[in-house]
Amino acid sequence: MKKTRKNILVTGGAGYIGSHTVRLLLEKGLNPVIFDNLSTGHKEFIPKGVVLVKGDLKKFADIEKAFKKHSIDAVIHFAAAIVVPESVSDPVKYYENNISATINLLKAMDAAGVRRIVFSSSACVYGNPLKSPILEDEPLKIENPYGATKVMAEQILGDMSRSGRMNFIALRYFNVAGAHPDGGIGIKMDKPTHLIPNVMRVACGLKKELTVFGHDYPTKDGTCVRDYVHVVDLAEAHFLALKGLLSGKVKNEVINLGNGRGFSVKEIIDAAIKVTGQKIPYTLVPRRPGDAVNVVASFAKANRLLGWTPSRGLDVILSSAYQWERSLYC
Ligand code: UDP
Repeated sequence: MKKTRKNILVTGGAGYIGSHTVRLLLEKGLNPVIFDNLSTGHKEFIPKGVVLVKGDLKKFADIEKAFKKHSIDAVIHFAAAIVVPESVSDPVKYYENNISATINLLKAMDAAGVRRIVFSSSACVYGNPLKSPILEDEPLKIENPYGATKVMAEQILGDMSRSGRMNFIALRYFNVAGAHPDGGIGIKMDKPTHLIPNVMRVACGLKKELTVFGHDYPTKDGTCVRDYVHVVDLAEAHFLALKGLLSGKVKNEVINLGNGRGFSVKEIIDAAIKVTGQKIPYTLVPRRPGDAVNVVASFAKANRLLGWTPSRGLDVILSSAYQWERSLYC
């Protein structure tokens, strides 16, 4: 029988951004097949009826088998190690998880004749940018092993596209936050390093106070400025990128995904106090090594090529993040 729904292999589909994208693919009538080793992903994030191929991208045989068993039309590749300080202390883990694994995936795709991939890249490829907002043609700067893996993976994808073997879209995420409005999925880590999960843990009473890293930056109030983008907006961008690749209208592009607005750490705390109605005590400590000062996206290219506009502002990001943390801990 001729299959009607396109099969999309989603590596890391049981993770934070992956699980939001899987839900959206289902809503759009696509058939996600999740490939995940569940090392940081969560089985309970997988919707009923969605196939999980439990496997490790570091093992070529695992991913090769997945392509033999399922007839895959395209891949969205989320699976990666993502903690910057850990990449500094354990670089080999990052090169294995993010580079060796990506090479295995590309080899298996090539062998199976699958030629379309959406890749999770990151604003960290810009290092500590001097311009704001940042356009995609800004020079890339490697600041740590995690950033190096994203720059290298983009390079490999570019080489593969020039060889005629692959069409890709690399999506450079800015600061992803928030959770699905229907509940059940969100960011789940024992010791989150990111600002918004930590703010919400203080709001929930799980942590006594927030640590604010650095208050002497050359910004409006001395704290670092970031561009926060809602995870559901991000999922929508993945769907649009996939659509662009499947239709052949968009290919071999790097695209920023952010809201185009910068908020300082202190502004996030103030907004979170308003949204949650809770106190958020904090202490100011010295700068965290490696933090960039001001990282804000231009999403003009995403709008032009994909028709993407982020529609969820800071209040929605913070209220959904609070609802999620409360469902976990309160
Ligand atoms: N930050 C903070 N306290 C925390 C976590 C983060 O002050 O507990 C600051 C961090 O120094 C940076 C900003 O919040 O200036 C965003 O950090 P996050 O780790 O969320 O994202 P990054 O941009 O570093 O990937």
